[in-house]
Amino acid sequence: MTEKVLFWFRDDLRLTDNPALAAAVQTEKPLHLIYIVDDSSLHGRALGAAQRWWLNHSLERLSADIAALGGQLHLYRGDPSVVIPSLVEALKPTTVFWTRRYHKEQVACDTALKANIESSGSTVRSYNGSLLREPWEVTSKLGTPMRVFTPYWRAARLDFVVPQPAPAPSRLAPSTPIRNGPKPTSLAELNLLPRNPDWSGGLSEAWIPGENGARVTLDRFISEGFAGYGDSRNRPDLPSTSRLSPYLRFGEVSIRQVWHATEAAYHSGQTRASSEDLRIFQSELGWREFSYHLLFHQPDLSSINVQRSFDQFNWRNDPVMLDAWKRGQTGYPIVDAGMRELWQTGFMHNRVRMIVASFLIKHLRIDWREGEAWFWDTLLDADPASNPASWQWVAGSGADAAPYYRIFNPMLQGEKFDPDGRYVRRFVPELASLPSLVIHAPWTARPLELSSFGVKLGSTYPAPLVNHERAREDALAAYKALKETA
Ligand SMILES: Cc1cc2nc3c(=O)[nH]c(=O)nc-3n(C[C@H](O)[C@H](O)[C@H](O)COP(=O)(O)OP(=O)(O)OC[C@H]3O[C@@H](n4cnc5c(N)ncnc54)[C@H](O)[C@@H]3O)c2cc1C
Repeated sequence: MTEKVLFWFRDDLRLTDNPALAAAVQTEKPLHLIYIVDDSSLHGRALGAAQRWWLNHSLERLSADIAALGGQLHLYRGDPSVVIPSLVEALKPTTVFWTRRYHKEQVACDTALKANIESSGSTVRSYNGSLLREPWEVTSKLGTPMRVFTPYWRAARLDFVVPQPAPAPSRLAPSTPIRNGPKPTSLAELNLLPRNPDWSGGLSEAWIPGENGARVTLDRFISEGFAGYGDSRNRPDLPSTSRLSPYLRFGEVSIRQVWHATEAAYHSGQTRASSEDLRIFQSELGWREFSYHLLFHQPDLSSINVQRSFDQFNWRNDPVMLDAWKRGQTGYPIVDAGMRELWQTGFMHNRVRMIVASFLIKHLRIDWREGEAWFWDTLLDADPASNPASWQWVAGSGADAAPYYRIFNPMLQGEKFDPDGRYVRRFVPELASLPSLVIHAPWTARPLELSSFGVKLGSTYPAPLVNHERAREDALAAYKALKETA
């Protein structure tokens, strides 16, 4: 009987620079390539609705790319701790290959599976395919986990040379079909797309999931957004950031590809990006690494305050306010534009993520976990590390947290980062004809002036949900009280 190997795709939906896949191909044995959709949250959080849409299209692309190299992707649905052992039993592979994952339930699942597979006589080989550094590799001089970004990033880069990305395999040898194993399913049967209603029109307009889409997005960033990134990355009205986050989240581009493509463009003069643009872009990639470092050392990052004193915080339970925030109906234009961008496109600019998160936590004093969960369901790039780490950062409950007295003023943030109101006009069309002078604070215009632009507060657009000054004072008082009791 021909010896075979099993390759399990997870958050590494690419052929290029995939170390685990390259190692499987190197065995020169027939390859059984699989992906398992796990609808439960037994082994990590179940995917949100937006990510299910992304996954559907990514798997479609990956299957086509694999077929073009002579291979076949087999899809399964179910609990991997059941599917994998029965596949191993039927296929009897010499080796099972996968890329490592870092969420605690996924780690537990993989550890148990490894023991199970190895007890049946096969070997498991796992690889780092999604981070520059393994989360446990970077420590303080005392060998302890790092809690602050700047020293973390310094330590992560010290004496570390980012390996060059490897090319995609030139051929994928398919394995013969297996008898008696778990039954594969089709993409359609996986039922990943929204129906009744299908709300995914805005996502299809904005994104091309898959490895080729990632390549196009990276090239576009290098030619259009990279030069000036250091200054313009905070501007949601400009196409100034890479929009690579969903591709990185699903592993459709590797972090090493992004690193080296931007380095090469900078050093070859292909772009007018400055050394500062490059340094700042790389440090954003560093925040992603740092988030995984935090998740590894704080496995309950999405549910437990890193600073336990926050367990005493007096959060407000207000479903009506929470709903207004989710629907982009707070009456604060920059907040509403962000929440509607999220709903329509599955994405939100980083600066606006900070503004809307600060608004939920500080102006509305609603628990950051509510916001984190909404982002998890609606963001295409919803990430088990970056999402909770960023929410805890804004809340002030995290490791390296924003100072508690930093309460974003939504009007000033809007004026500074969306100076002509272009971003607000795009996502809050009912305010589109307002002059830039009042677009970030429509209530400061006289009702007569507003009505000349077709705006009536409380009718065509909400009046502010809370008074900014009062909300700010209340938040400061609540944070101060927490500090005093901590
Ligand atoms: C409340 C909140 C929630 C967030 N949730 C997520 C999330 O679920 N998934 C996610 O990938 N990012 C999250 N971020 C971080 C950041 O907003 C996005 O990574 C960024 O907006 C993605 O856009 P981009 O690819 O154009 O970024 P670019 O500016 O082009 O940055 C390049 C890459 O660096 C990484 N990166 C950039 N900023 C950060 C950051 N602050 N933290 C971690 N990684 C970063 C991303 O992988 C990004 O694709 C969150 C930020 C906030 C404030």
